[in-house]
Amino acid sequence: MAASSSSAATAKQSDHSSPSEETEEESEFCPGFKDVDAFVKHGLGAVVSATKASAALPAAGDEFDLYRSFPAFQQFCASQGDRLLHCMTQIMQHHGCRSHMRDRNRLTGLEDRFDLVVDSNDAILEKVGILLDEASGVSRTQQPVMPAGYQPPKIVVSSWNRRGGERRDETFHLLHAKNIQRPQLKFKEKVDNSNTPFVSKIFIKPNAVKPLPSYSKLLPNERPEDLDVPAALADFIHQQRTQEHVDDMFSHPYQYELDHLVMPESLKCKPDVQMYKPLAESTCQFIYTLDDLVALNEKLAKVSEFAVDLEHHSYRSFLGITCLMQISTREEDFIIDTLELRSEMYILNETFTDPAIVKVFHGADSDIEWLQKDFGLYVVSMFDTHHAARCLNLGRNSLDHLLKVYCSVNSDKRYQLADWRIRPLPDQMLKYAQADTHYLLYVYDRVRADLYDMGNGQPTLIQQVWDKSRDLSLKVWTEHCNSPAWTEQELEQGDVKHDPKERARYSQC
Ligand code: AMP
Ligand code: MN
Ligand code: ZN
Repeated sequence: MAASSSSAATAKQSDHSSPSEETEEESEFCPGFKDVDAFVKHGLGAVVSATKASAALPAAGDEFDLYRSFPAFQQFCASQGDRLLHCMTQIMQHHGCRSHMRDRNRLTGLEDRFDLVVDSNDAILEKVGILLDEASGVSRTQQPVMPAGYQPPKIVVSSWNRRGGERRDETFHLLHAKNIQRPQLKFKEKVDNSNTPFVSKIFIKPNAVKPLPSYSKLLPNERPEDLDVPAALADFIHQQRTQEHVDDMFSHPYQYELDHLVMPESLKCKPDVQMYKPLAESTCQFIYTLDDLVALNEKLAKVSEFAVDLEHHSYRSFLGITCLMQISTREEDFIIDTLELRSEMYILNETFTDPAIVKVFHGADSDIEWLQKDFGLYVVSMFDTHHAARCLNLGRNSLDHLLKVYCSVNSDKRYQLADWRIRPLPDQMLKYAQADTHYLLYVYDRVRADLYDMGNGQPTLIQQVWDKSRDLSLKVWTEHCNSPAWTEQELEQGDVKHDPKERARYSQC
């Protein structure tokens, strides 16, 4: 923000320093700049030099203390700090954000001020997004989709849910709650939006055949860089260990187990199809306490398969957040509030990596990444019904299509793009989420039966789907990127594919 304001300030300055002719000025995009490109180029230059300059400042614990002992340096810091805060306050006020950056207790106010900046950045970026949507011709006048009786604080139509011209009437709308508390604020561990490579969050490895490398086994507060030793020594230990274990750190923690995974015998014969319970008669437990999560994990440990799905929110937020996890056994449905239990979700690794329990997903590409990124969860023994549908040449491979073909259920994908951070979740959204896994084990039986028949009474095709699913679970989330990864399935059923620009934007990162 400081950098962009300085570019604005320079823009003003160049207006004074280079008087241009009346006619030229009229055609200028803004004073001193002939078009948007010139402005952006100048702005970027300013941002780069500001970043370079701030990187060159002495860091805390480095030479900073030495510099601080000079009164002139202290005064300079104080005056520059005030200037920056003033500048930021003005920008925030201009955008109608909360903006009491100054006159705060310098010690206790820091975190508050940081939150203010983060909130303002969100608000400003959201405005930019809306303007970009408008510029690319997205109308925001149509009625939003929302549960009956639910009062959405604000509706935003995103560019990614735009339909092609001929199907405009079916445009999906994003139910976006503007005034909800940002769930990130509650997380015990801060969201890492940095560009550094992602290091696996796993620190205990249930169902291990090959144990975890020693580095990962250390609890976060036991790592040398977090210990109470001089910074230089911690850095040294860290570098040594990092170099030693660099391969381990970025590899899949269950690589060995997945490489040696064998398809369970029970999948090699034609399954007995087990009917699902009617959705209306099924119980669905909402899980938001650690005790209930532990109890669920214990229940899951006793079954031979369960279905899993996730709901994620990535609208204009940097890496996105997994907001819900739906799980269905043959008997019951569960919805886990993963915003509440984010730091505890890892306990499910016990069942998620148990090779004797099959985890059924539909189109798990993104799910596998979200599980790793947000919870440090991995999946061993997965069956992806999307790959089964592809193998069966069903024409369309979306879950809606499978539900139509096998369950005669007309699923309603209206809430797919809803803002899943909303709490308490309206009943209709909970029902929608429940339906995403409720029928999945039945679909799993049906596709396996069809694959078996199509393979002339041999499990060859089931094995193919199994292998594809295993390859999928080997996916490693390593890099931070700004856009969500889109699966073929999402591209197929979404609108992204209609627009080459959007497609490029959402291409696998
Ligand atoms: P699903 O597996 O269909 O329940 O989708 C899981 C999550 O993926 C949703 O909560 C959305 O965040 C995201 N998603 C799925 N399909 C789309 C789409 N067509 N456009 C944008 N986001 C999508
Ligand atoms: Mn899904
Ligand atoms: Zn879903």
